[in-house]
Amino acid sequence: MSRRGANVIVAGGGVVGASAALALAEAGQRVMLVEPREPKPWRADDPPDLRVYAVAPASIALLEKLGVWRDVLAMRAAAYRDMRVWDAAADGELHFRAADIGAPTLGHIVEQTVLLDALWRRLREHPRVEIRTGVGVAGFEHREDGIAVDVGGERLDVELLVASDGAASPLRGQAGIAVETHDYGQRGLVAYVECEQPHRETAWQRFLPDGPLAFLPFEGNCCSIVWTQSSAEAERRLQLDEATFNAELTRAFDARLGEAALVSPRAAFPLRRQLAERFIDHRLLLIGDAAHTVHPLAGQGANLGLQDAAFLMHLVGAIGGPLTASQWKRLLTRYARERRSESAIAGRAFGGINALFSNDQPLLTLMRGPGLGLVSRIAPLRSLLAKHAAG
Ligand SMILES: Cc1cc2nc3c(=O)[nH]c(=O)nc-3n(C[C@H](O)[C@H](O)[C@H](O)COP(=O)(O)OP(=O)(O)OC[C@H]3O[C@@H](n4cnc5c(N)ncnc54)[C@H](O)[C@@H]3O)c2cc1C
Repeated sequence: MSRRGANVIVAGGGVVGASAALALAEAGQRVMLVEPREPKPWRADDPPDLRVYAVAPASIALLEKLGVWRDVLAMRAAAYRDMRVWDAAADGELHFRAADIGAPTLGHIVEQTVLLDALWRRLREHPRVEIRTGVGVAGFEHREDGIAVDVGGERLDVELLVASDGAASPLRGQAGIAVETHDYGQRGLVAYVECEQPHRETAWQRFLPDGPLAFLPFEGNCCSIVWTQSSAEAERRLQLDEATFNAELTRAFDARLGEAALVSPRAAFPLRRQLAERFIDHRLLLIGDAAHTVHPLAGQGANLGLQDAAFLMHLVGAIGGPLTASQWKRLLTRYARERRSESAIAGRAFGGINALFSNDQPLLTLMRGPGLGLVSRIAPLRSLLAKHAAG
């Protein structure tokens, strides 16, 4: 047991780590969250955060259970009830409606700072959570029935170390867990734009030969864009003057919402698919980007991580109270098997869609248009895909 009483340490307080820490505390564990950089509090008059999440209903259900969703809605979140996906090189369009799955929305667009603020506020007041900021987890050593963790030079003996330390995960590296990596050679360019026409609470995505372009609904007529493109093009477009950028963006989006004009700085992130070879190593457990990253075209990266946290909460909560060594072993094995399989399927599926659409090979182009149109006309198939789109 740690000197301070925690039996679980969560290393990394990003969206996934913060959710996992709360989930484990709610499931009865005593948790220490370790994060070198405490997130900045959200303020309504600060410029909106460029990193936004398309939070799916399954993730909203978890955030409701953790008691943070109401705070998120009170700060800022934009619902989307429709999703339209079409291809620049072929006819046909997919149109998902929340009504197809009997849900009020398909999800909400939420800034990272809003989610972090709501999660950290709840963490600070939770009786079974202790927070250490300004230090990181420097390393760990396996013990017979637990794990010894180095937190800023202090050694703490606990039952479980959760590595939510991001895509480059130093803890995964220390455990010697290999990672299957695919570099898409693409970057996701993000920004906020003001559109001439209302977004109609719709998440829009157009597939272009270079990669998909998404317009996600935000406040008023504003949209958050995620524009996947080759790294060279992203570099060029980051440097363009605003008028030329706006003209290229409006053309790339087929002016579907009229003229689009930048209202924020631009940023671009490299895109990689990653899958850790194993999600556990004795009492070390990988979660979120430390375990998997996927192409952002379906907006599912953080959602997958939140589902890791939800599954962990379900497994730990089902036992309730302190866990024996054999219960930990069974639980961690089950977590690793189910979450790795789910993440592998998601990673390949999103990568496959990107590969199918991000090119202009004539044969593939011929297949794509009728495919989209056909799916859109078959109600049960459309509803099945809408359920997947909603996570
Ligand atoms: C362009 C782009 C668009 C995206 N759009 C979406 C979207 O629409 N929807 C979606 O769901 N996802 C999206 N994603 C993915 C999403 O951003 C990530 O999946 C998510 O941020 C991962 O959260 P995390 O908590 O696992 O990791 P991170 O947010 O990377 O957090 C890791 C934390 O660990 C801390 N840390 C590092 N080392 C240590 C240590 N040794 N000890 C303690 N702490 C440590 C770091 O300080 C950091 O705070 C997108 C990604 C990109 C690139």
